[in-house]
Amino acid sequence: IQARTNRMATRGFTPADQVALDRQGRLDRDLRQALDRNQLHLVFQPQVDLRSRRITGAETLLRWKHPELGMISPAEFIPLAEETGLIVDIGRWVMWAACEQAMLWPEPITVAVNVSPVQFQQADMMATVEAALRRSGLPASRLELEITESERIAEPGRTRAVIGRLQELGVRLSIDDFGTGYSSLSYFRDLPFEIVKIDQSFVRGRSGPTDDALLAGIIGLAHSLGKMTIAEGIEDEATAAMLAKMGCTLGQGYHFSRPIPAADFAALLSEANKRAIG
Ligand code: C2E
Ligand code: MG
Ligand code: MG
Ligand code: MG
Repeated sequence: IQARTNRMATRGFTPADQVALDRQGRLDRDLRQALDRNQLHLVFQPQVDLRSRRITGAETLLRWKHPELGMISPAEFIPLAEETGLIVDIGRWVMWAACEQAMLWPEPITVAVNVSPVQFQQADMMATVEAALRRSGLPASRLELEITESERIAEPGRTRAVIGRLQELGVRLSIDDFGTGYSSLSYFRDLPFEIVKIDQSFVRGRSGPTDDALLAGIIGLAHSLGKMTIAEGIEDEATAAMLAKMGCTLGQGYHFSRPIPAADFAALLSEANKRAIG
């Protein structure tokens, strides 16, 4: 918040800035209690094998139902939680709750959990993951961590050490929002990971031969380096079919399902794996 105030100060402070700051300050204060007061919950978005159209797993997405302000998007409160460090406690809860849910799903359905780079800087990151697996009984092979591209991830040291240990455990790693960072390609060289998660801006906003060539290029490159690919933001059948033709492994998006409550996902699993989805 201080950093934001400074940015606003340098270009002149408007009433709209004040409104935004007031809201951020409020959310920042209230988020501390949100965890204890059970205002946070998880929803799950199916991930689908683009060839067979079977569900292979789900991504865990966090929701905050604020008692007065209503639903707050993670795009708004996660950055706040990262600034204050609260993301560490929140992230630990997400990890536990996601693994517990996944234990209710049939083998080998996987669960993907978004992890902030801030969590990777924590000395107890490994202990958190191990505790979640132990407590829930979920096999490591059914847990996947999604890390968004960022400078902090590429930095050597702790992050890389943690990633190495996660792999020894058997937890899979995917690079989220792939293609939007400024050093995407260097990840292939510098980081061990299993899955390339192609950013939805290449998928959803697909608008011509350049985008399609980029998609084909990313998929081809990833596969030639032994990575799996998943495309996010698939909103129509034409896109699903095209990605399948390009060989993209998995897909995720409103065309298959929006993020849904755990109970709905469990129901979808027992019904949908009798037939294909999308
Ligand atoms: P993300 O991990 O890249 O998640 C994908 C976002 O795209 C989700 O938004 C999802 O609801 C949305 N989405 C999925 N399919 C479609 C589609 O077909 N069309 C459109 N228009 N959107 C689609 P959401 O749930 O608002 O999450 C936003 C971001 O917040 C996530 O981006 C992730 O970076 C972050 N986030 C969410 N939950 C967590 C969490 O538990 N921990 C951390 N650290 N970050 C989280
Ligand atoms: Mg994600
Ligand atoms: Mg993403
Ligand atoms: Mg994202």
